[in-house]
Amino acid sequence: MSIQNVMSIIKEKGIEFVDFRFVDLSGKAHHITVPASEVSEETFEVGVAFDGSSIPGFRGIEESDMVMMPDTASVFVDPFTAHATLNVMCNIFTPEGERYDRDPRGIAQKAEEYLQTTGVGTAAFFAPESEFFIFDDVRYESGQQGSFYEVDSEEAAWNTGRKEEGGNLGFKIRNKGGYVPVQPVDKQQDIRSEIVRLLVESGLRVERHHHEVATAGQGEINFRFDALTKTADNLLKYKYIVHNTAQQYGKVATFMPKPLFGDNGSGMHVHQSIFDGDTPLFYEKGAYANLSETAMYYIGGILHHAPALIALTNPSTNSFKRLVPGYEAPVNLVFSKGNRSAAVRIPVAAVTPKGCRIEFRTPDSTANPYLAFAAMLLAGLDGIQNKIDPRKLGYGPLDKNIYELSDAEKKEIRSVPASLEEALDALEADHDFLLKGDVFSKSFIENYLDFKRSEAKQVAIRVHPHEYSLYFDC
Ligand code: GLN
Ligand code: MG
Ligand code: MG
Ligand code: MG
Repeated sequence: MSIQNVMSIIKEKGIEFVDFRFVDLSGKAHHITVPASEVSEETFEVGVAFDGSSIPGFRGIEESDMVMMPDTASVFVDPFTAHATLNVMCNIFTPEGERYDRDPRGIAQKAEEYLQTTGVGTAAFFAPESEFFIFDDVRYESGQQGSFYEVDSEEAAWNTGRKEEGGNLGFKIRNKGGYVPVQPVDKQQDIRSEIVRLLVESGLRVERHHHEVATAGQGEINFRFDALTKTADNLLKYKYIVHNTAQQYGKVATFMPKPLFGDNGSGMHVHQSIFDGDTPLFYEKGAYANLSETAMYYIGGILHHAPALIALTNPSTNSFKRLVPGYEAPVNLVFSKGNRSAAVRIPVAAVTPKGCRIEFRTPDSTANPYLAFAAMLLAGLDGIQNKIDPRKLGYGPLDKNIYELSDAEKKEIRSVPASLEEALDALEADHDFLLKGDVFSKSFIENYLDFKRSEAKQVAIRVHPHEYSLYFDC
């Protein structure tokens, strides 16, 4: 979209404010709002200044001046503001006019540019399935902070419907109805439909929504695949609309990977494929799961680099509480066409050549999507460039029930890292694939490791509620 087009949208839609947004290291959006009367074509040409030193993981205080450069392709009208507001995503530049090497959106764009130089293909497509919980916001009801982290599975089954605690529990509608239960177990049909309405109004193509397996309140909404950076923008828009719609209903949404101990967590499976122009490169009729050799090598790259990659796709201490056996979250670094405990699954039902893709099931929504998508593409490309064959390296295909394998067979299977610290160590040891095409800089990786290690430390030094049940009466 041209700058002139944006200026006419501002006029035609009676826009009062323009909201300039950028993304920090964790994937959170920040914004600066400018009255529409102050916005001119020049604003889009010279950008908007902000203080980079106050953003976690960005610059030091001594080099704080940064510039947001608006991307006119990303504009949409904010559905939540009382005053008509146009949101626009920005890239971050230094005052000298150079791309800031820690700008996640810039990294995503560089990954797309790099793909074009490899000769492999012209575009990479991504589609995340970002699951979430919507809980009653106990703060509204009791004036207190909620503390879901102390809730375990049995309590959770009753407590997330919170209003009727106690009394005769035998006369209540069950709170957990398995996958895609209908109402009244599904209490959030209307909230999800309202979220979808706003997503569509904001420019997304939504394919479906449904309740998820966990206790009442877990949902998922699927929007259509798109190119890498565009999909990361879409995901930010999606999370923004989920959070704010829940708030309008007096509820609270969370994308935290494991808010309830003993129940399913929330993942963000990421479907991905590469095209050369109009030609899908992952499809080959008659091969295993109709997958081409290119797709096989892409899987090889993902699985081979998975321990390091997971530092970017599962970058929170909570992420690793989801990646445990028994809850449909992947634990095994293998690929398979059906097995949902495999890290890479190949969807085979109702798939056309153009829809042929791989699904990496490990990621969760604490990932910064710009960094995570870029890193997955680079891992996959490394697999293609070095012909990393997952079949020769013990990564499957594993289509058997994993519980029926012998102990010797089980031993051969590699697992995801057990903690954020382990994943960060893996990233420290294996990140050359991310430096290709200067997509990620060495200094970015070093800064990221420091930033995330400090997060892990903040959690590790705090007293955990379960320590009381283990040790209090020692
Ligand atoms: N919630 C599961 C996970 O953590 C996925 C469940 C599903 O999509 N069927 O990945
Ligand atoms: Mg799904
Ligand atoms: Mg799901
Ligand atoms: Mg899935």
